[in-house]
Amino acid sequence: MARRHRHSHQQYIEGQDEQHLRQLTLIRDLQDAVANGELWVAYQPKMDCRTGTVTQCEALMRWRHPSLGFVPPDEFIGLAERSGSIRMLSQWLLEHVCAQLETWQRQGHYLSVAINLSASDVVDQRLALRLAELFERYQLAPESLSIEVTESAVMQDVDAAMGTLLELHRLGIRIAIDDYGTGYSSLAQIKRLPVDALKIDKSFVQAIDTQKDDLTIVRSTIEMGHSLGLEVVAEGVESRTSADLLSTLGCDYLQGYWLAKPMGSEQLTEWLDSFTP
Ligand code: C2E
Ligand code: CA
Ligand code: CA
Ligand code: CA
Repeated sequence: MARRHRHSHQQYIEGQDEQHLRQLTLIRDLQDAVANGELWVAYQPKMDCRTGTVTQCEALMRWRHPSLGFVPPDEFIGLAERSGSIRMLSQWLLEHVCAQLETWQRQGHYLSVAINLSASDVVDQRLALRLAELFERYQLAPESLSIEVTESAVMQDVDAAMGTLLELHRLGIRIAIDDYGTGYSSLAQIKRLPVDALKIDKSFVQAIDTQKDDLTIVRSTIEMGHSLGLEVVAEGVESRTSADLLSTLGCDYLQGYWLAKPMGSEQLTEWLDSFTP
């Protein structure tokens, strides 16, 4: 008994070591991921519930590590935040997305792309200036970009974040609160920020077709959001029934596997060409 216990404890320690080693490897290799061309962007469309058309999508970062393979963003974004390389990644993403937007506009696709910002991006005082330069270089209207930021990222340093968000807003960039419902802020607090939209977290949305409580939460979030003049987006829409429910509740946009999974830019172009509302 005691021996087996010691054995499992040993395995636990080894598991921890392995995990730690993987993290150190990822942190080290993130430094070169951009230069080595290991990053790419997946785009997931959002549908306008009223018209059934697709005019927006979300950019989601992807990393294929040369030996470890696909590393999920839930793993590497956190490591990049803690190790200080997130700004480099965000900068690459911004540039990449703006170039893509220019390509799409040349092809006649007038999409607006939402990018996710981390806590250290929203306190970056040069972010707005860099974006203004990118709009100029790629001849983009500021409405072609929007940002998604979580309340927890904003609350880490509200004053600094407020400054950046106001500057972005002044440029004409729309701002959405991501993962809404998972944080601790009230809508009243959120309303003090220059925010245009709420994105209801997928944990509330995924099961609205079967869970009455989730449906109640989503319904009242949509109502409160609207009464404060905010657009409401639902993420994690996985069934036709959920999509229909959300449209009935007056949700403005929906996103999820039911509509489409995130995909590469060329695949999205094809998807858009064949999509009929
Ligand atoms: P998020 O911003 O909340 O993005 C939504 C996540 O839900 C994405 O996971 C997306 O693929 C997934 N998803 C979309 N539709 C469905 C659905 O119907 N059902 C389910 N179960 N999931 C769905 P992904 O791409 O793995 O990204 C995870 C998180 O990593 C993102 O959550 C975001 O917080 C972060 N992330 C991704 N790309 C970036 C980035 O470029 N910058 C930053 N700062 N964070 C990023
Ligand atoms: Ca997001
Ligand atoms: Ca989200
Ligand atoms: Ca998230």
